[in-house]
Amino acid sequence: MMNIRQGLLTYLRKGMSVSDSHEISQKIIIIKLFSFVGMSITGILAVTAHLNDNVLLATALYFASMIFILAHHILITFRHIDTSASIILYSLYLLMFYLVHSGGADNTGPLWIFMVAPVSLFLKGLKKGLVSIGLFLLVIATLLFYPNNELLDTLYTPSFKLRLIYSFLTITFLSGCYEYSRLQSFQHVKDLSREYEQLSKYDPLTGVSNRRDATNKLRHEQRRIAQNQKKLSIILCDVDYFKRVNDEFGHEIGDRVLVQLADLFSSVIRQRDLVARWGGEEFLIMLPDTDVRGANLVAEKIHQGLADLSMDFSGAKPRVTVSIGIAEVNAGDDIKKAIGQADKHLYEAKSCGRNRTCGGSISKTI
Ligand code: GH3
Ligand code: MG
Ligand code: MG
Repeated sequence: MMNIRQGLLTYLRKGMSVSDSHEISQKIIIIKLFSFVGMSITGILAVTAHLNDNVLLATALYFASMIFILAHHILITFRHIDTSASIILYSLYLLMFYLVHSGGADNTGPLWIFMVAPVSLFLKGLKKGLVSIGLFLLVIATLLFYPNNELLDTLYTPSFKLRLIYSFLTITFLSGCYEYSRLQSFQHVKDLSREYEQLSKYDPLTGVSNRRDATNKLRHEQRRIAQNQKKLSIILCDVDYFKRVNDEFGHEIGDRVLVQLADLFSSVIRQRDLVARWGGEEFLIMLPDTDVRGANLVAEKIHQGLADLSMDFSGAKPRVTVSIGIAEVNAGDDIKKAIGQADKHLYEAKSCGRNRTCGGSISKTI
């Protein structure tokens, strides 16, 4: 039992790549399952038809079985997912046309057409699937209702033909509803996962990166500069006397000031730099491939930008300044140590009277 399960899993995973998205992996599994089931069922029916001396039916079924094997081969060898799905679907349609035309074994051939609706929707998705089913139904109706049964090799009663079409439409409707609700749920899960990703990376108040995201990106940059012998600079920026802003104008205005600050920081950096809310009213700016001189220029733009910024929140006009600590990180330097260094420089800026910048390379201070 364990071996069968293991074998099936190995079969389903063959041809998949670790980089495949969940959607692609699902599609590959579904195509493989259909090609496996299609190949097995048509194979068994072909042998049965063969034993019953129904040579034409047996040949059609053997042929269909081989086409399912071919579709599987195309999938795992060339990874042509859509080609493989189309081969499975349209060869299934051809087989169904033949079964309806010939009646199959004891006129039971038309019973198989009910699998067309779910298989079409699974393989082609809702819209393309419904179009394919519509075209399929058109051909089936033509076969069944062509005057004088000229396109049929067997006889069905008129009421059987009508009921076949009605029940096929019912199955199509139910399968369509199921596929629609499956798509809705899938979209919902996708939206949720995007929302959680946003929450896990960005600060909800200011929209800039949060501490966790900044830490990950700093580690990544640390590895990059170690490999490429480059440098980066870190700016730590803390609002001066922010408690007073809250006390004087209220916490809500304080929040709006933080949003304005984050916007200002984002406006003075390059696209590849990063602004993050490091703590309450403390921000970190990461400047890849920038030395302490470049970081000082950014710090200067921040001080100047704040001096020029006149905030007005329905009459409340808070004015704020910031103190800045800078650390330059070179290849081989420890990023935690660098942040500690920037923090030390920030403390220096505070003790020297605030509204200023202190800092330098991790080994020497300017
Ligand atoms: P300093 O110049 O020494 O940095 O003075 P400060 O008042 O800025 O420093 P302190 O650490 O004493 O106070 C920081 C204040 O920032 C206290 C806290 O209420 C406020 N704060 C932290 N996070 C937020 C926030 O998300 N929104 C608002 N409105 N205030 C915040
Ligand atoms: Mg402060
Ligand atoms: Mg602070």
